[in-house]
This record gives sequence, structure tokens and C-alpha cells, in this order.
Amino acid sequence: MEVHPTIAAFRAALETERAASRTVGFVPTMGFLHEGHLSLVARAAVEADVVAASIFVNPLQFAPDEDLAAYPRDLDRDLSMLDAAGVGHVLVPSVDEMYPGGPVLTCVTVAELSDGMEGASRPSHFAGVATVVTKLFAITGPCVACFGEKDYQQLAVVRRLVADLSLPVRVVGCAIVREPDGLALSSRNVYLTDDERVAATVLHRALEAGADAVAAGERSSAVVQEAMVATVAGEPLASLDYAEVRDAATLATVPLVPDGAELRLLVAARVGRPRLLDNLAVRVPD
Ligand code: AMP
Repeated sequence: MEVHPTIAAFRAALETERAASRTVGFVPTMGFLHEGHLSLVARAAVEADVVAASIFVNPLQFAPDEDLAAYPRDLDRDLSMLDAAGVGHVLVPSVDEMYPGGPVLTCVTVAELSDGMEGASRPSHFAGVATVVTKLFAITGPCVACFGEKDYQQLAVVRRLVADLSLPVRVVGCAIVREPDGLALSSRNVYLTDDERVAATVLHRALEAGADAVAAGERSSAVVQEAMVATVAGEPLASLDYAEVRDAATLATVPLVPDGAELRLLVAARVGRPRLLDNLAVRVPD
């Protein structure tokens, strides 16, 4: 595996791959890798001839009061994992390499899809994500980019910016990798104490409660939402940020759910220190 600290070296290496008629799969990450990230690498290896990854904790997507400085990092371990997973090239830029002039003056914002849910709790977050992802796509060049459904709203934002800007990227969404008890893998799970780790399954339990309500015939989003809210309220160590019922493709609200609809239930909650996200696909019976 070639480790590239500079944009120029990473870009040149991928241009060489494509010149040799090898397609590129790309997996952008913020590091502190787990099996969820490795599932994206595995998918990229299926979709393309050579896999490239990036590790960059992007300051643009953290608000001043968020956990940028404390975000967990272990570059040596990450590089061993990527190497063992068969990654060919990894970009590990410094903040100066990515943003040499200090704060950026150019910013990518994806309207509407960035509003609500994560956007409501973290107002500048998706502008930071969309800007760095656009920049990483410009650096990587034509590729198949693998993103996790774990960050479902982010995936929608990325799909839309690629379509709107005609970027030469095919976006592939990958299923959420979970612990056996249902907790979605996340770099931030490392912050959980033992008690909080047990309590953190409440996000998945809330989603299951919402899915059960739909399966039992409930068609009011408000009632499905209430099933999720009540589940989180029953866990003293958790504090709910949002529980939402959305159209899976557009992320629009669906007050009355039609038969056959493809929904996505989404929750965010703080459990002790970390704020955790999860979501679940639900198909409404015909
Ligand atoms: P991050 O390092 O948190 O920015 O995540 C990098 C990529 O890994 C994003 O596309 C995430 O959606 C994806 N990812 C994170 N956790 C999981 C998971 N549990 N299952 C699948 N993909 C994940």
C-alpha cells in the first residue's frame, strides 16, 4: 500500500492506475477505523480494480463546540487495517495540505437536503462535509465512491452534489455494520462507558419499535415517531435529539404513509458523551 501525505502524489498515483486501465474505488474516512469502514473497502474492491482511501479529520465539518480536538485517532492502526484489507493507495493529508490558505472562501452547500435532522443540530456540518467531499473527488478523479448508509443524510447530500455538479463519480451506498446487539459501529463508540455501551442499543431498539408499529399497520408518521421517542425516553442514560420518519429516496416528511412506501427511520441521541446516529429501512406493506 502506498501512503501519500500530499494531494499531488495521491492524484498522480491514481492517474497512473487509470492510465493502466484500472478503475478506482474510493473510500473517504476520518480514521479510527472499524469493520464498518472495512465493509466499504470490501465493496470498493468489488466495484473497482484498485481501492484508494483517505484519512482526514475535516475541521470544516466540526462546529467550535464539537469534538474535533478529541476525535479519536490512531493512524498506525488505521494504516495496518487498510493495508491488510488490500487498499492500494491512501491519502493522509495534514490540515495545511488540504487548506493551505487557512479557512476556505469556497464552500459547497446542498440546499434542502442539508436542512433538518443533522443539519438542525449541526448547522454548518453539511457545508463542511459537501466541501471536503467535493475537494476529495476533485483530487481522486473519476471513481466509484463508497459511503455508509450509517450517515444516511450525508449519503443523500453526497449523491445530490455529484448529480448537480456532474462529477465523474458513481456513489455506492453500503449497509450499516452493527455489533451483535444492534449497536451501529461508530468511531465515537469508544467514548462510551460500560453502562453507556449497554444503554446505546436504545437507538436500534427505537428504530425496531418504529418498524414494528409500521408492520402492525400504523400509517401515521406521528404515531410511529412516538413509538421511537418513547423507547429512547425509557433509557435514562440517553437523551434524544430527533426521531424521524422520512421518504427513503427524498428524505421528505411523510405525515401519512402510503401502502408500499419505502421509508427510512432515523434517530440521533446523546448517550453520555457521544452523540450517536442510526437509521433503518422500512418497507410499508402493500
Ligand atoms: P467516518 O470515518 O465516520 O467519516 O465514516 C467514513 C465512512 O464510513 C462514511 O461513509 C460512513 O457512513 C461509513 N461508516 C461509518 N460507520 C459505519 C457502519 N457502522 N457501517 C457502514 N458504514 C459506516
